[in-house]
Amino acid sequence: MKLAAYDPDVSAALDRELAREREGLELIPSENFVSEAVLEALGSVATNKYAEGYPGKRYYGGCQFVDEIETLAIGRAKALFGAEHVNVQPLSGAPANLAAYSALLKPGDTILGMDLSHGGHLTHGHPVTFMAGIYAFVRYKTAPDGTLDYDHLRTMALEHKPRMILVGYSAYSREIDYAKVKAIADEVGAFAMADVAHIAGLIAAGEMMNPVPLFDIVTTTTHKTLRGPRGGMILCKAAHQKAVDKAVFPGLQGGPHENVIAAKAVAFKEALEPAFKEYARQVRKNAKVLEEEFLKRGYRLCFGGTDNHLLLIDVTQRGLTGRQAQHSLDSAGITVNKNAVPDDPRGPMDPSGIRLGTPAITTRGMKEGEMRTIAGWIDEAIAHHEDEATLSRIKGDVKVLTDRFPLYPGLSY
Ligand SMILES: *Cc1c(COP(=O)(O)O)cnc(C)c1O
Repeated sequence: MKLAAYDPDVSAALDRELAREREGLELIPSENFVSEAVLEALGSVATNKYAEGYPGKRYYGGCQFVDEIETLAIGRAKALFGAEHVNVQPLSGAPANLAAYSALLKPGDTILGMDLSHGGHLTHGHPVTFMAGIYAFVRYKTAPDGTLDYDHLRTMALEHKPRMILVGYSAYSREIDYAKVKAIADEVGAFAMADVAHIAGLIAAGEMMNPVPLFDIVTTTTHKTLRGPRGGMILCKAAHQKAVDKAVFPGLQGGPHENVIAAKAVAFKEALEPAFKEYARQVRKNAKVLEEEFLKRGYRLCFGGTDNHLLLIDVTQRGLTGRQAQHSLDSAGITVNKNAVPDDPRGPMDPSGIRLGTPAITTRGMKEGEMRTIAGWIDEAIAHHEDEATLSRIKGDVKVLTDRFPLYPGLSY
């Protein structure tokens, strides 16, 4: 029985979600729109199959076809990133990080990671997480000019003698000098780990530097700039293959989600195409245009600007908080998220900044001209954040714009 006939409640909610995605301007930098081919693989019969283990070494019968699928995903991921070994089973970015730590470290070991208000992720040792109780996290920060402070990183590494140095962020907008980080890790005898969850697509396309050939271990999500299904992945040196595979299964997970792995394989095929390189180039071009437009209007951009797909903007000097800005932009049909700025004096529920990025709107086909229009609307919504009439007028304008960039034409639930 078809979904709409059997369950009109879920079907109607899905239709409303589809309309929301179509009509709004999606600027959350961790979001994207997968292709119809990826959606199809995700909703496929591979969801029915138990396949604990790895291709050729499973604990269940009948795995020959999901073996084919998982082998394709692994081979394509290796080609994309130049990896010696890849594990495509992590269920998402957070479990991939936990698996990476548990593969290489013992409980109590020290991890040197970036201060969370400077762009680090919760799974890099925020006190509210389980891993913060297992490992001893110490932190480095960015320099006042917004760049990663490698001298400070080295000083911290020499002082704390970590077993692992961790780079890769959620709200940081600059390039990372992986060779410098690797040299510091080597000097103190630490593993070098990068979490490229946000920028994996830009790395795969050659738009940003690739830590995979250099580092011990690299984790990523597959659903952000890489534009695949919601999921995770670990890439590592051959020397860590056994430890990583054991950490994922049976260390932390049970049966892999082979439907998601099928969708990952499809997304990796797409990312190997020349068109994806063009996409990633446009993602960065679009972010640069937003940077220009905001600087022109006198905004304070954290880290001084952007090298990647995202911008972190301190809005407090415009007379409102991150939460208020997010709320007003929501009313204007523009989705961003409130975010802490480096050393934010405000709390996480109402921080000083907003974070926005270009991966999703670039997938829809928007280019430099649209970026200039969008920056103008954001500025207007921030300036008139208490004026419902202005916000709802912008929402109407946003709808006119997004109608010109169809999303999943013909799809309904
Ligand atoms: C998004 C993100 C994660 C977590 O990914 P989930 O799929 O949400 O678990 C981990 N690390 C970084 C740097 C991220 O940006």
